[in-house]
Amino acid sequence: MSALPILITNDDGFGAEGLNLLEESLSGLGTVWVVAPDREQSGQGHALTLHHPLRIERRGPRHFAVQGTPTDCIYLGVHTILGGPPGLVVSGINRGINMGDDVTYSGTVSAAFEATLCAIPAFAMSQEIGDDPISFEAAARFARDLAGEILRRGMPPDTLLNVNVPKGRPRGVRVTHQGKRLYPGGVIERKDPKGRTYYWIGGAPAQWEDDAASDFCALAEGYISITPLHLDLTNYKVLDEVRRWNLGS
Ligand code: MN
Repeated sequence: MSALPILITNDDGFGAEGLNLLEESLSGLGTVWVVAPDREQSGQGHALTLHHPLRIERRGPRHFAVQGTPTDCIYLGVHTILGGPPGLVVSGINRGINMGDDVTYSGTVSAAFEATLCAIPAFAMSQEIGDDPISFEAAARFARDLAGEILRRGMPPDTLLNVNVPKGRPRGVRVTHQGKRLYPGGVIERKDPKGRTYYWIGGAPAQWEDDAASDFCALAEGYISITPLHLDLTNYKVLDEVRRWNLGS
């Protein structure tokens, strides 16, 4: 029996340390295929390249760099490189957290979403950055354990798992819900050397709503957070309210 194919990608780019450690940690569970963007693609969300050609560069046995987004990598990985669905997709290990409302910005999480669209079990892994040099060791170990559990149990349908690992040694694991980030409006305005104004998004420290069951809270207390996500963004609680609007139907 041939080993189970496992497809991994990221948004930090081919050769990123978190991706390399993920590959190493999963290698005992199946045949790992690496299909990753050829450059940093953080913050690209679920972007799919439709209007220019995509090129794939083979960098080694089962190692491919794609001139595209993380979503392109899953798409081409499944349909072209592997020629069929792998048994598991893992995205990461991202350098930095992907929690709360920020998951829609995340290329790491979106790659896992893309796999879920193809009915492939998938999870995303992100590692919190602290003051010390970043270490992906705990996250890599946990990725292997979680992958093993998913391969044994199967994944609930239409679900992906968004995993965030705290800095330092994790105190345990919590299954959480997506938290709510507070946006203090972090935009930095500067002048370039020619006197023209430019803007830089971000820069303000992250803040979030105080909610003990959330992903943010789990990490703040030193726990690994696992949030089951699905692609249905419908806000069911307000369906009836909107139906009562005078919309001519
Ligand atoms: Mn990233």
